[in-house]
Amino acid sequence: MDLLVPSLPTPVFEIANEITSVAGVRLFIKRDDLIHPTVSGNKWRKLKYNLEDAKEDGSTTILTFGGAFSNHLYAVAAAGKHLGLHTIGIVRGEDHKLRETPTLQFCREQGMSIRYVSRAEYKLRNDAAYLEETYARFKNPYIIPEGGTTGLALKGVAEMVTETDEQLGFFPDYYAVPAGTGGTAAGLLSAGANVLAFSSLKGGTFLKDDINRLLAEFEKPGRLSLFNDYHFGGYAKWNTELLDFINEFKRDHHIQLEQVYTGKMFYGLFDLMKKGYFLKGNTIMAVHTGGLQGLLPDLR
Ligand SMILES: *Cc1c(COP(=O)(O)O)cnc(C)c1O
Repeated sequence: MDLLVPSLPTPVFEIANEITSVAGVRLFIKRDDLIHPTVSGNKWRKLKYNLEDAKEDGSTTILTFGGAFSNHLYAVAAAGKHLGLHTIGIVRGEDHKLRETPTLQFCREQGMSIRYVSRAEYKLRNDAAYLEETYARFKNPYIIPEGGTTGLALKGVAEMVTETDEQLGFFPDYYAVPAGTGGTAAGLLSAGANVLAFSSLKGGTFLKDDINRLLAEFEKPGRLSLFNDYHFGGYAKWNTELLDFINEFKRDHHIQLEQVYTGKMFYGLFDLMKKGYFLKGNTIMAVHTGGLQGLLPDLR
């Protein structure tokens, strides 16, 4: 990982406003968006041990999966370039072949080979037979699943808990994270933290089972609370209310959030505070998981 040197520990700040003061809680933000310029946020934490494993295996090629705006593909492409590994991205939706997104353009510029597949084929991304065939077709690459979510990813994310404890000098009552695959939430839970996870996709109730499956081998995971009402219409969907919120947050706290994950999480967190979800004196560590490469131009 020498070539992927992170800025650790990532800074922690307290966020105080009228809402936190009425709720009587102390809210902190863990700036994992500052961990690395291109392998940002939770993707650095999740990739760390996966990439080490790939290197130890002697793999020279990494193959992974993602959508056309995927922060994970972006991070893998950048990491591959830093580490001298060839990368292959299997991208959902053949329509993107004709209009390349800025994310995929960046990936290609880093040297990633991009294969566009139909949405039907993409659905097979975790199917054992499909993966075996993919492994053979691309000459035995190291395969990392969508979002980088593996047991090794949990280990990387769990390190954030020890890091944060040392910074704070106490163990916060809750960590708050956005959830896509649930790997980041699972990593924090595996370290014993209680986690508030905000699904960024519609119908995210399946995340609970996915997270529990990832935690099967851990004896004392923390408590998970999953929130499914802050997706703003679904994955990568947003409305003016969310964008206004992100702009206001930036004005008040001088921190940029984005519209896919972190904006929805902070919106949800403040909403819970207003609704009296927390006890007076509760401490919450909200993780800025990064993702700013996908920021809407309107929010820049
Ligand atoms: C990928 C991503 C997530 C989702 O993480 P999971 O571990 O898949 O739940 C959250 N926030 C940002 C900014 C991301 O890029």
